[in-house]
Amino acid sequence: MSTGYSATEPDEGKAVAARPGVDLAKIAEGVRLILEGIGEDTEREGLRRTPDRVAEMYAELTAGMREDPTQHVSPLPGDKHDEMVIVRDIHVASLCEHHLAPFVGRCHIAYIPKGGRILGLSKLARLAETFARRLQVQERLTSEIADTLYDGLKPVGVMVVIEAEHTCMSLRGVKKTGALTITSALRGGFRTDSRTRAEAMSLIRGRE
Ligand SMILES: [Zn+2]
Repeated sequence: MSTGYSATEPDEGKAVAARPGVDLAKIAEGVRLILEGIGEDTEREGLRRTPDRVAEMYAELTAGMREDPTQHVSPLPGDKHDEMVIVRDIHVASLCEHHLAPFVGRCHIAYIPKGGRILGLSKLARLAETFARRLQVQERLTSEIADTLYDGLKPVGVMVVIEAEHTCMSLRGVKKTGALTITSALRGGFRTDSRTRAEAMSLIRGRE
């Protein structure tokens, strides 16, 4: 019998996996209140396990709150690369803190190393993920990634661009399906040198 968290749904009556720092029962109770509030029958077959499922989902979507993002910013030893590094199209999925609705898109991270300090490429994706798995606004998500990378790696410069679709916009209100919100954060050399900035932007845009 597995004791770890499983992506498959727990059986009826089986205790869900513990999530340190998260009160799953409290979230489930809140979801039950939402269901009652919209006039649903919380006992009908399709909804009986919904509060527990949603509680697990919110625990997962906010897991970054309980992680230290700086753990992903440790330079690879023995490297001496000083040219611009760009990782583009990192998938990000986050929750808008105004509506608790997902926003989903792509994150592009560029930096210019100093003193040969570079990061493993997967670390950039993990850094973005740690900040995305929190209640966010896209502007803060963008600047938190940039600041943590700039402060931790001490590179010449950092640029972070995020393009995302917000379901709180596309599902309701103005219903601008497909509209992308684009945010950027520039640090160091990317802020002061327009040619460096333009080079990074053209590499990021160099896709379909
Ligand atoms: Zn929103």
